[in-house]
Amino acid sequence: MLKIENLHAGIEDKEILKGINLEIKAGEVHAIMGPNGSGKSTLSSVVAGNETYEVSEGSITLEGEDLLELSPDERAHKGIFMSFQYPVEIPGVSTTNFIKTAINAKRKALGFEDLPAKDMLKMIREKSELLEMDRKFLSRSLNEGFSGGEKKRNEIFQMAMLEPKLAILDETDSGLDIDALKIVANGVNKLRNKDNAVLVITHYQRLLDYIVPDFVHVLHNGKIVKSGGKELAYELEEKGYDWVKNL
Ligand code: ADP
Ligand code: MG
Ligand code: MG
Repeated sequence: MLKIENLHAGIEDKEILKGINLEIKAGEVHAIMGPNGSGKSTLSSVVAGNETYEVSEGSITLEGEDLLELSPDERAHKGIFMSFQYPVEIPGVSTTNFIKTAINAKRKALGFEDLPAKDMLKMIREKSELLEMDRKFLSRSLNEGFSGGEKKRNEIFQMAMLEPKLAILDETDSGLDIDALKIVANGVNKLRNKDNAVLVITHYQRLLDYIVPDFVHVLHNGKIVKSGGKELAYELEEKGYDWVKNL
């Protein structure tokens, strides 16, 4: 599904990603772990199309299509969903309206008509039940005054509604208490299926107790220095990131 080959990217004169190779197939969950400053957020930003970063070499394709040619919106329409470490607040726009707009924009880009209101409502009902969401949040302004856990639950709801091919969760766990963490993990687990894929980026092993990855990659200084199965996350937790720095 997603194929990253020899990706080099950075900002002005500073190279941050120094030759990343990563292939994610449909149905898989991959985790990227690594010390602070190793390039985890840069990698997710570059995949999502954040124009702050310049790609100097390499390629990123989604189902064979060159993503680097596409704007962030176009990438979202192709099925990339990115969960942010710090979700934005949008006063005056309800979560429901925000999501309706996003869904219809995506449908339009793919050549479909707007989703009929009754189908939209049915979908909102189904997904909010699946995620055990309190529906009253849906009518509140997006993220305004939401607690950390509520913002994250809301993001997972957006992800559920948009049904992305590839969801990227960049440190979705930071600052969450254990209950909020479980909500996020349960949501992600309920949305996992054989046709989509998830990339979980995290500094801590903790989240991976709940979202069990098929593959774990360790990023250090802009390169994947080690890949393995879920046991690699435990090894990292045990040995610490200094171990990685000497690989
Ligand atoms: P991580 O998410 O693993 O903590 P980041 O991708 O945020 O790492 O950062 C990797 C490196 O790139 C760090 O040294 C960081 O300071 C630098 N960096 C990231 N984004 C920018 C930016 N917009 N401007 C300047 N330096 C940046
Ligand atoms: Mg960081
Ligand atoms: Mg980061």
